[in-house]
Amino acid sequence: MKTNLKNTIKGALYGVAVGDALGAPLEFMSAEQIERRHGLVTDMIGGGWLNVEPGEITDDTQMTLAVAEGILEKPENPIEAIGERFIAWARSGPKDIGGTCSRSIHGAAAGGIKRPPEDAWFKASKDTAKANGNRSGGNGALMRTVYPGLYYNQRLEAVEVATAVAQMTHWDENSNRACEIYTDMLYLITEAVIKQGESADKDRIIDGTLRGTPYELDRLAKRTEDLNPTGYVVDSMKCAVTAAFWNAESFEEAIIAAANMGGDADTIAAITGGLAGAYYGYDAIPERWIKELAPEVKERLDRLTEAALINRTMEQRRD
Ligand SMILES: [Mg+2]
Repeated sequence: MKTNLKNTIKGALYGVAVGDALGAPLEFMSAEQIERRHGLVTDMIGGGWLNVEPGEITDDTQMTLAVAEGILEKPENPIEAIGERFIAWARSGPKDIGGTCSRSIHGAAAGGIKRPPEDAWFKASKDTAKANGNRSGGNGALMRTVYPGLYYNQRLEAVEVATAVAQMTHWDENSNRACEIYTDMLYLITEAVIKQGESADKDRIIDGTLRGTPYELDRLAKRTEDLNPTGYVVDSMKCAVTAAFWNAESFEEAIIAAANMGGDADTIAAITGGLAGAYYGYDAIPERWIKELAPEVKERLDRLTEAALINRTMEQRRD
């Protein structure tokens, strides 16, 4: 299918936001509870444990914006710039913030510091993992990881930045690997569009990113049926990849499937939205979902789209 880079990048960014907003009212419900109460959820209904407005985004998109805008401030080493935004956001009293993120952010910001040095982040993150009994394998880093694979020209740089940003809060091998694979997938999709002007091939994305994958993530390659929509990063990644690439023929189908799994519904639908949004493109996102997003959120997503587009297109001219 013919597409273009702007459609791909914008699709991934908006994909995260609409997935987050569609899933937020369903978070912590089981698939059975969702079905009994709502039937199949296909619209922005609002409500849920956070009592969100229809179209309201949560921490998944807010942290994604913080990461992306920090990257634009200082692309060559964005950790401090991103960290400053994490701290300002955490202090603004968000409706929701994950336990691991909260602990690491407050650790790095100890003493009221506004912009801690890079080392303070990794120390805080290691301390958090220790306090968690070395279980920092939640999906809180993966959920904010869409931008590096869209923005950076070099695959290695994209993956390195994604992993470092993940490690600011989550000191965990499975979290790192999930973020690497996710970044790799987005990079491969955008590269296919840059090189051929065509959507990437699903099998190529999967095969190209999972080779040599250690730990439980190798099961992603086997198109597993045992989907479990928990906040554990490996479970979340399996749900997202399956929803985005294997069980859907459109963006809309992918996000509806992800959100209606319940569990960590907003995060899983947001992660799915990044992948499916890049793969199917912005044009495939239903208008009825986009129009529910706040204008301020759309402005920021548009600015981030333009910045990534300019950066990736410059590279193409150098080729
Ligand atoms: Mg959330």
